[in-house]
Amino acid sequence: MSTEPRTLIQALRTIVGTDHLIEGDDTTPYVTEWRGRFRGDALCVVKPADRDQVAAIVSLCVQHGAPVLPQGGNTSMCGGSVPYPAEQARPPVIINLSRLRRIRQVDALNNSIEVDAGCTVAEVQAAAAAVERLYAVSFGAEGSAQIGGSVATNAGGTGVLRYGNTRDNVLGLEVVLPDGSVWEGLRTLRKDNTGYDLKQLFIGAEGTLGLITAVTLKLHPRPTAQAMAWVAPRSLEDALALLALTQGHCGASLNAFEILNHTQLEHVLTHVPGLRAPLTQPAPWNLLIELSDRSDAAQLQAKLEQVLTQAGELITDAALASNQAQCEQFWRIRSSVSEGNKKSGMSLVFDVAVPLVRVPQFIAQAEAAVRLLCPEVRVPVVGHLGDGNMHLVIVIGWAHWQSLSDPQALLQTMRDAVYAIVAELGGTWSAEHGIGRMLLKEMQQYKSSVELNLMRTIKATLDPQGLFNPGKVLPA
Ligand SMILES: Cc1cc2nc3c(=O)[nH]c(=O)nc-3n(C[C@H](O)[C@H](O)[C@H](O)COP(=O)(O)OP(=O)(O)OC[C@H]3O[C@@H](n4cnc5c(N)ncnc54)[C@H](O)[C@@H]3O)c2cc1C
Repeated sequence: MSTEPRTLIQALRTIVGTDHLIEGDDTTPYVTEWRGRFRGDALCVVKPADRDQVAAIVSLCVQHGAPVLPQGGNTSMCGGSVPYPAEQARPPVIINLSRLRRIRQVDALNNSIEVDAGCTVAEVQAAAAAVERLYAVSFGAEGSAQIGGSVATNAGGTGVLRYGNTRDNVLGLEVVLPDGSVWEGLRTLRKDNTGYDLKQLFIGAEGTLGLITAVTLKLHPRPTAQAMAWVAPRSLEDALALLALTQGHCGASLNAFEILNHTQLEHVLTHVPGLRAPLTQPAPWNLLIELSDRSDAAQLQAKLEQVLTQAGELITDAALASNQAQCEQFWRIRSSVSEGNKKSGMSLVFDVAVPLVRVPQFIAQAEAAVRLLCPEVRVPVVGHLGDGNMHLVIVIGWAHWQSLSDPQALLQTMRDAVYAIVAELGGTWSAEHGIGRMLLKEMQQYKSSVELNLMRTIKATLDPQGLFNPGKVLPA
């Protein structure tokens, strides 16, 4: 840092006001990984009120050579949103976006919405619903995760099968660049072939190339009818056959095709109060299937029933949700997986995707490899099966975890074993959670040098001093 930290802090305070600059112990929630896995250190946390304050803060930090860490709801799965302990020699200024919270405009005719980056994903969904439209990106942390953070991580979630990732739902961005200038790219066009599509640079960049202050998003007609079923397929192969059958029969009405294994369901039912098993008999695999469209609920439910009848021996049991409350109950089970696993022990979450046809082979090989390394593990599996995106979770009971002589080495050996299988099967080792701090080794190992060099060239061009979220996404 080129000048006294106190000088910088004082200057930042004049931009945001005394009430919106946080220092010392009060920074704890902002510098701590949400699962409590590690905590770093920040020079201070600032909460700007608008884009111009963000630009002024960034300019000042650049002038002082101070690192900048953009922060949304701090729900990152990869440690991207908090400083890492090793960076304590140069603690960053955290720019927390929670005060940029305006729904700027909703255009029902154009099916688009313009929002400040600090609006939560749930607030955007609600603003869209108020004009009978749908913001289609949905995931477990949507009540806390912000739109800016979801764009910066290109969040996926449960609606990708039908509506795509966040990337597919972004029309335009407003970004404060690392030199303090503002790119006003809040387009609302469906077609714009005027050279490089610059917004794509910032989507999924995890705050390493600029700070997103506002977003324009695609909206969709809001479905009026919903039908859901909880289904036990005979095997993982049969689950895939049922996916193909449902897609063939229901086309664009298929909204979600989620999967949980028995262990995952058990963890949820044991540790999350108020939930009960949708089927009377336990099954090795459970599918949550959701259809939605603008027909009527009875018609849609009949369609789902027809598919399940046609499925014949592919399935052993099924329960159709008969009302809205039951649909919500099914979704509550699905969105409680993190809570259930967290209470079951120390967990290591894999976020991988492989070509659909290889999902059964991946699960069998990865589970066997992990059990060979540590027979005591439990292996809940949950995933967005329709996208080939599986979260294999390795849970080690607390007692066993504490008895391990080098637990971190064991976790790394497991990572290496699972990612080798993913690579062999032509998959990806980070399907929707991003890289953050936790997957730098894999970036180095599995990205080609051509790709890494291209990324480094882009980073050096936009952020020559390397001040934006240093130590994240790109290995040193
Ligand atoms: C219970 C739970 C369930 C989840 N389920 C899913 C799921 O199903 N699918 C999925 O894809 N993800 C899932 N996630 C991860 C989720 O997508 C991300 O945590 C979320 O999108 C990040 O939003 P955030 O506002 O919390 O960002 P943060 O966690 O605060 O930040 C994430 C990254 O984005 C950067 N960033 C934040 N805001 C900005 C900004 N305005 N401009 C530039 N950079 C910024 C940060 O520097 C950091 O690198 C889940 C997370 C949890 C906790």
